[in-house]
Amino acid sequence: MENTTNKRRDFIKGAALAGAGAVFVPTILSAKKTRLKMATSWAANTPILQEGADYFAQTLKTLSNGDIDIKIYPAGTLVPALGVFDAVSAGQIDIYHSATYYWSGKNSAFNVYAGVPFGMIDTEMNAWMRFGGGLELWRKLAARYNLYPLLGGNTGIQMGGWFRKPINSLKDIDGLKMRMPGLGAKVLTKLGASTPMLPGGEIFLALERGVIDATEWVSPALDISTGFQKIAKYYYTGWHEPASTAEIVFNKKIWDSLSKEQQMLIQVVSDDMNTRMTAMFQAQNATALNKLIEQGVEVKTLPQDVLEAFNKTFKEVIEEEIASNKDFKEAWESYNNFFKGQKEWSKVGIEQYLQNRNY
Ligand code: CA
Repeated sequence: MENTTNKRRDFIKGAALAGAGAVFVPTILSAKKTRLKMATSWAANTPILQEGADYFAQTLKTLSNGDIDIKIYPAGTLVPALGVFDAVSAGQIDIYHSATYYWSGKNSAFNVYAGVPFGMIDTEMNAWMRFGGGLELWRKLAARYNLYPLLGGNTGIQMGGWFRKPINSLKDIDGLKMRMPGLGAKVLTKLGASTPMLPGGEIFLALERGVIDATEWVSPALDISTGFQKIAKYYYTGWHEPASTAEIVFNKKIWDSLSKEQQMLIQVVSDDMNTRMTAMFQAQNATALNKLIEQGVEVKTLPQDVLEAFNKTFKEVIEEEIASNKDFKEAWESYNNFFKGQKEWSKVGIEQYLQNRNY
């Protein structure tokens, strides 16, 4: 990084001045601008996800009257897609935008904050994060890595993925090579699949060259521009990612050095970015799905016995994680208690309504 020390010193001085004079001098009038670097895990041309990061930076710049100036670096321009956690943790970069389950190798508890197979949908997940203790627990864990996370979008329900051949029984999972992240990958691995984790920008080539047989990515809005449908025409409905958290994560020292006003502004913009992303997915998924079907894609749902086996295996995965990682246990107990509390209302509310509106 060029001039890191000077910049950092100026930045901290600016933040201190803004803090000390907050009563008399609004942050927007402070002489020193807060210039930050944000790396993402998304290729430069990734719709919705990279677009969300751009929206975050542009909105903050406008609302802070130019005080908070974030420069965005797509995957590979400063650090590799999956190198952002380490770079921000070490203070080489100030912020990253990514997906929380990418860090399950650091600590498997991150999988819970990312969203869970057969788990809560986005409305329930956001309720847990904001009003059920999820964010506080996540931040407690992230602080150990010198990180401070904010909600940076939610994909809503993701599709189960793209397959060259239909899945008719569990035998078709055994030996399957499928790109898959998070706890879903652990389920498939236990059932005999191999599940390499590739960043979004590397999936197509791996699928085209036969390095993998199948892949999941997100949902029609994003998947349509990948080209997966040219190679694998069976598009399965979802089970493994009902509400995946995208995250805006600050280096904790940088976050702590911001003024209260800056922190609150960033918090409000990240909340807006969070709901905005879900709305954008919802809006674009509908038209993209129709286009995919016109292109010859066949939408399928896994056979009931396969889904039952996935669910049973998922419960075994949870038991193993609880036994081996106390951070996972803490995250899971909070998540699962909240989920249990939600289930009755969601059955009466969302689930029943979706049935009722078909009449
Ligand atoms: Ca996914």
